This record gives sequence, C-alpha cells and structure tokens, in this order.
Amino acid sequence: MDRPLRDLRISVTDRCNFRCTYCMPREVFGRGFPFLARAEILTFEEITRLARIFVSLGVEKIRITGGEPLVRSDVEKLIAMLSRVDGLKDLSLTTNGSLLKSKAGALKRAGLQRITVSLDSLDDEVFRAMNDADFPVERVLRGIDAAVEAGLAPVKVNMVVKKGVNDHTVVEMARHFRERSQTVRFIEYMDVGNTNGWRLDDVVTAAQIIGMIGAEMPLEPAGRDYRGEVARRYRYKDGSGEIGVIASVSQPFCADCTRARLSASGKLYTCLFATRGHDLRGLLRGGGTDAEIAEFLRSVWGLRDDRYSELRSSQTPDLPKVEMSHIGG
Ligand code: SAM
Repeated sequence: MDRPLRDLRISVTDRCNFRCTYCMPREVFGRGFPFLARAEILTFEEITRLARIFVSLGVEKIRITGGEPLVRSDVEKLIAMLSRVDGLKDLSLTTNGSLLKSKAGALKRAGLQRITVSLDSLDDEVFRAMNDADFPVERVLRGIDAAVEAGLAPVKVNMVVKKGVNDHTVVEMARHFRERSQTVRFIEYMDVGNTNGWRLDDVVTAAQIIGMIGAEMPLEPAGRDYRGEVARRYRYKDGSGEIGVIASVSQPFCADCTRARLSASGKLYTCLFATRGHDLRGLLRGGGTDAEIAEFLRSVWGLRDDRYSELRSSQTPDLPKVEMSHIGG
C-alpha cells in the first residue's frame, strides 16, 4: 500500500438532532427523509469485528462520528468494545456536544480517550440559526465542561467557517478557547453533499482565518504531529496555546491522506469526496471470514487513487458527492 492506512472514521448513525444548514439542511433532511432502518445499520459486534480487522492492517486511530454519534443508543457500549481492540492506539469521538453533559462520564469510563466538539459560533443567535434546531451555545459549553471534568482531555473544538454567516465570530471563538487552553480547529466550508448549495464565494480560506486571528493575537506556524494530520497548526507567539486550520478547499491534502471512512450501513469510503462506497456489510452478513474481509480491504485501499479533493478545488466542481452526514466528516 502506497499511502498507509492509519485512521478510520466510523459513522455509527446517519441521524442527527441538529439540522446544520451546511450539512443536513432541513429542506432535505426533514420529515419523510429515508433514514436507515435499524437492520441496515451495523451492530456494535459487526463494527468491532471490522475494527479489529482494520487494526490488523495498520489502523492505529479510530474516530467515532455520525450523524450525531451520541444519539445512537448505548454508544458507550461500543466504545467499551473498541477500547479492548488490541493494537488500537487512539480512540476518539466527534460530537455536536448537545448530549455530552449527560454522556461524558460514561464515555470516559468506557475507555474513550479524546473528544472533539463541533461548535460554529459563541454568538447564540448565529449558532441557533446554523444548527437550525434552536440549540443554545450554553448547553454545548456545559457539555465541553463536562468532558473536561470527566478527563476527556484535550477537548478540541471544530468550527466550520462560512462567509457572511459566522466569520465575524472567528476571533471571539479563538480568544475564548485560548483562555481555556483548548484548541479550536477552523474548517473551510466544503462542497460536501449535493444539498448544501455550496459556492466558492462562501468559503473563508485558511489564510484569511489565520490573518483575522493573527492580527489580534500573533501566530506562527507549528510543526505537524504526524503524516496525514489534516490540520495545519499555528501557535500563539506568546505561548498561550495553538489553533488549527483545515484547508481542504484552498490546500487539499490528498497525497498525505491516511484515512478511510466506514458508513453506518457498512460501506467503506476511501475519500470524503468519493461517491461510491464498498459494501462490507454484505461480506460480514454473508459469512465472509476475517481473512477474506482483510483481503478485500487491502485490495480496495491498495487500488485507491482518488484525489477528489484536489480535483474539486481545481477544475471540476461538479463532481458528484457523497453526503457528509452519511460518512461523518
Ligand atoms: N454530529 C457530529 C458533529 O457535529 O461533530 C459528527 C458528524 S459531523 C458531519 C462532523 C464534522 O463535519 C463537524 O465538525 C461538521 O461541522 C463538519 N462538517 C459538516 N459539513 C461540513 C461542510 N460542508 N464543510 C466543512 N465541514 C463540515
């Protein structure tokens, strides 16, 4: 395998209690949307079995995502099962934080190591409008506090920046979390899914974000922690911490990508922008052995040559897309 397979994102549900306008817009994901039926979703046992096989092929880090992973009942049981997979070095989860206050302790006890909370603004009105569920900032902040108290440190915060919507709240966000020694990662608004009406004009680039923050709190580039790290890190020159920017639109990083994605229904995607998933559920439920599944994974990963992100940013913005909500970002 040319690019090593190191990271696996596992989406445990396609459902979410938010309707973020850039991800699961209500006009599309409203009443009547055909969400997956229970039987179509991988069970915890199936997910854990696949995780074990992925780890045997070199995966070291697993991140649980969704939809909103905390809406899947008893997700902490899955965390407990995954935390016992031999050879897995890092187990983390990305959440919108809405249910974190009540779940943080159980997740930690189950063996979760780290957590990332998505929060698009500290301005309550802006945030409520973006999540389109009228969900207040304060409750997400209480969730973050609960995660810190539970020992799920370091908590990282993800903010998708959309021009004219929340970009005026970028600096406030940076300042708030810098004072609390928590890292914010600012994400360029991506063209994911056919449903969010993406336009290049709506993107605030990583360079612009760094410029805005750096003008108030001087920054300098920090190194990369590991190959395949998607965030470019910058530290505050006064030593008060760091931020990250994820420049998937302005500076795509396909050549370095070490990440695979498993959808809630058991499809493997080798790229966030891939349209076609490879069905693993059929193999699992059809009696495939671990060795056969491993061979299949090896062949899929070995053949991958996708550069959708790079292509999309250059000349072919109309490439078809998979839904972000389906494979979890
Ligand atoms: N529900 C969880 C959450 O809110 O973090 C996990 C799933 S969510 C799809 C994962 C991440 O993808 C979130 O940080 C979200 O903001 C980000 N995301 C979704 N749509 C995006 C888009 N169009 N561009 C950039 N990031 C996006």
